[in-house]
Amino acid sequence: MNYVSTRGQAPALPFDEALLAGLASDGGLYVPEAWPRFSRADIRGLRGLPYAELARRVMTPFLGGCVGDDDFATMVDDAYAAFDHPAVAPLVQLGADTWLLELFQGPTLSFKDYALQLVGRLFDHVLARRGQRVTIIGATSGDTGSAAIEACRDREAIDIFMLHPKDRISEVQRRQMTTVLSDNVHNAAIEGTFDDCQDLAKAMFNDAALSRRYNFSAVNSINWARIMAQTVYYFAAAVALGAPDRRLAFAVPTGNFGNVYAAYAARKMGLGVRRLAIGSNANDILTRFMESGAMETRPVAATLSPAMDIQIASNFERLLFDVYGGKGAALVRAMERLRCDGRADFGKARWRRIRKVFAGHRLDDAGTTAAMRRIHETTGVVVDPHTAVGIAAGEACRGDEGFGGAALVCIATAHPAKFPDAVEAATGARPALPPRLADLQGRPERCEVLPNDLGAVGDFVARRMAERRAA
Ligand SMILES: *Cc1c(COP(=O)(O)O)cnc(C)c1O
Repeated sequence: MNYVSTRGQAPALPFDEALLAGLASDGGLYVPEAWPRFSRADIRGLRGLPYAELARRVMTPFLGGCVGDDDFATMVDDAYAAFDHPAVAPLVQLGADTWLLELFQGPTLSFKDYALQLVGRLFDHVLARRGQRVTIIGATSGDTGSAAIEACRDREAIDIFMLHPKDRISEVQRRQMTTVLSDNVHNAAIEGTFDDCQDLAKAMFNDAALSRRYNFSAVNSINWARIMAQTVYYFAAAVALGAPDRRLAFAVPTGNFGNVYAAYAARKMGLGVRRLAIGSNANDILTRFMESGAMETRPVAATLSPAMDIQIASNFERLLFDVYGGKGAALVRAMERLRCDGRADFGKARWRRIRKVFAGHRLDDAGTTAAMRRIHETTGVVVDPHTAVGIAAGEACRGDEGFGGAALVCIATAHPAKFPDAVEAATGARPALPPRLADLQGRPERCEVLPNDLGAVGDFVARRMAERRAA
């Protein structure tokens, strides 16, 4: 099994190389050359399996023999062993034919743990085998940073530097990063905005001498291995609800399109998915595209669901690759139009193909608060703002042609306690952190405050790496 770039100019790579590369050298994203197919009998055979066992079966075809079966089994077992719920990804019933898939049972309480807990281990394994090390450098506006740090802490072959904007993330988000005191975890609070942090991380990355010296890498949402690991919970939820003998629809609150693309990938692998409902907040570029067929960027607005405050969704390029029939050159032209002109359409026929599966629905902040309140009042379930946007999208698409009486599974992407202010404003009650994190407030923090200055960040990295080598 090899991976090809959506832009068609980079060499095809085996799984381990695509894992370490992240982005392809032509700026494209890696996708499998051919999709593994699970027959109805294969899918039936997944029923009743523990999550880790199901995960191994779903993911093994993607590895192409690059990782040994026993090693992979150990990594998968370890990745999900410490999750809070024995089902790892439990389903909660919201209504007669509506379910909530709780993907906040991992160490940092967002769905990102489901992929990153495994990807950190895969990185470490592949690097150790090659006698290599990497330095991960990233910027975060909240959720990704903590999930990446938890995934990389104490890994032998990895150091991780995470930049966040000082005083511009919530206290829970900050503490989830800064209370990790492992020697290989390095937090910096930058006196600037999230965009400043991102520019600094990019500048470090693009400095050829530094990049060679520290072997910089990223575990961002375009890494193929994250998509692979996210297909698993769609299979798990579907078989728990009776697949392949029951049709499913999923509703997914969407930012960078990674999570909902993983559902599409599961469909490509043979899972009977009728409909994928995309939830947008005020940054509704994907919903507008579903309505009109034109993709048009606008300025990013800050909302109650910050992980979805995104304009161009990177992973959408993977879906486009599919509807362009793998023609990289035509896709490159469309992406260039979008980046340069802020507008692109991909042709009526392609749009229709996308609309056969996907629907979009938007909810502004007032609608999000109202949805959180209504869900709480009618079901007793407390959801975070992202999840509320997804549920509203799922309910809106019930009437669509093609929905056809499917069971609706709404994806809960974060624990309500990650967004306590928004949840309290909607429901009147402040959600408590799970017992494991109840003492987060009292834990010691370690974090360096730095000016918004490339030299200062470079010095920080050099100093910490010198200390690490000396130790
Ligand atoms: C990252 C994130 C999202 C968006 O997921 P994508 O895969 O980028 O579409 C939604 N909700 C929460 C809570 C997140 O952390």
